[in-house]
Amino acid sequence: MDIVRNITDLRSVVGGWRAKSESVGLIPTMGALHDGHLALVHASTQSCNRSVASIFVNPAQFGLNEDLDSYPRREARDVELLESARCDLLFAPTADVMYPDGFATTVQVPRLADRLCGKARPHHFGGVATVVTKLLLQCLPDRAFFGEKDYQQLQIIMRMARDLDIPVKIVGVPTVRDADGLALSSRNQYLDENARGVSLALNQALRDAAERLSSGRTSPEEERRRGIMALLDAGFDKVDYFEICDAETLDPLTSVIRPARVLAAAHLGKTRLIDNMAVDPPSI
Ligand code: AMP
Repeated sequence: MDIVRNITDLRSVVGGWRAKSESVGLIPTMGALHDGHLALVHASTQSCNRSVASIFVNPAQFGLNEDLDSYPRREARDVELLESARCDLLFAPTADVMYPDGFATTVQVPRLADRLCGKARPHHFGGVATVVTKLLLQCLPDRAFFGEKDYQQLQIIMRMARDLDIPVKIVGVPTVRDADGLALSSRNQYLDENARGVSLALNQALRDAAERLSSGRTSPEEERRRGIMALLDAGFDKVDYFEICDAETLDPLTSVIRPARVLAAAHLGKTRLIDNMAVDPPSI
């Protein structure tokens, strides 16, 4: 696998593939790769001739008191994992390459980005939408792969690519979980043994809510209350939200009459965990 660190080299390699009519998949990441990221690489190698992973810990999507400095960085191991997943190219730019002196433009997707995680992290999705727009325009892939684990991010990127007429198909990949249900995340390594046990309540609460909502036995408002209580009772310190939303617009729902998503974010010590689950409307 080749590694490139600037846009000229990226475009030169991708241009060579394009000249041979090979299709290209892009997998944007922040590194510290795990099986969730590798599922995106796999989805890309299955449907594209060539796959490009990017690793960039994007300062613009971290808030002032967040974990930018301590975010895990392990490029050598990531390279080994990408090679074994048969990725063709790693794009690993520095912050100067992505944000040169004088950089002044941001991409915002208001309504979708203001809610859910956007309330606790007001600058986060602007940073994500800006860096993903740049990565898409730098690489110009046919497809780009994102995890359903970050469901709000996925919907924002789909909307942004559509609105800006970026010629790429955004592909969502199902969440990869540990055997006990916890969604894989680079931040799970912050959890000690006790917190790791408590963390399972997140997946459980979402699954319970999704099942009850699909059976038609309950309302979103009821499940919202129950979900928050279940997480606090299990030992989470704070719940940012437990919401039932339209699966595409993320508008909060008062009844489940179309495909929906139950999404939650909660704090365990210094670690903030998110997860989500599909909710099928009850069959009539
Ligand atoms: P990150 O490195 O956290 O920015 O994530 C890079 C990409 O991997 C994003 O599209 C995430 O949604 C995706 N991803 C992270 N964890 C998982 C997971 N457990 N299952 C599927 N995709 C994931």
